[in-house]
Amino acid sequence: MNKETLRKNLREIPDFPKPGILFYDVTTLFKNAECLQGLIDELYEMYKDKGITKVVGIESRGFILGGALAARLGAGFIMARKPGKLPAEVIEETYAKEYGTDTIQIHRDAIDENDVVLLHDDLLATGGTMAATHRLVKKCGAKQSYINFVIELKGLNGRKAFPEDVEVTTLLQL
Ligand code: 5GP
Repeated sequence: MNKETLRKNLREIPDFPKPGILFYDVTTLFKNAECLQGLIDELYEMYKDKGITKVVGIESRGFILGGALAARLGAGFIMARKPGKLPAEVIEETYAKEYGTDTIQIHRDAIDENDVVLLHDDLLATGGTMAATHRLVKKCGAKQSYINFVIELKGLNGRKAFPEDVEVTTLLQL
């Protein structure tokens, strides 16, 4: 997928969700059929030979491509969610946000030691959300894990949040 096309179809919303924040709106990427297909195709090519058995998508924008990619790869799909959403027994990790903390959960039986896991989300900012989700996947004993985002905000240096031995890919760097 051509970066120009990606960039062109990404919408920027100033002052969302609060004044001073420039929000990158991925709904315009997903609404464009060619763009959506192009993203799934590109991710499939990147991960088709890695032996991925589970894709973990982070609530909620990580569910879209994560779910499509899991189906394409012939892998299972796991939802990483905010507290109070998952019905069965969960494990959780809490992480620091700009103001206060946040918590992310997965089902305790979602992943085991036979799994090769691809963690996916739409956008890498500080990396806190993904790093916490990655710790959950490690706790489950996954054999190997990979991390992917559509967009990386390079100025925030979010890659620093992940262990050095994990391969992290992003499709568009801003
Ligand atoms: P981090 O934990 O890396 O600081 O923040 C990343 C999380 O916040 C991701 O789940 C991502 O969806 C969300 N996020 C933060 N800023 C933006 C943004 O500008 N656009 C979108 N689409 N998501 C964002």
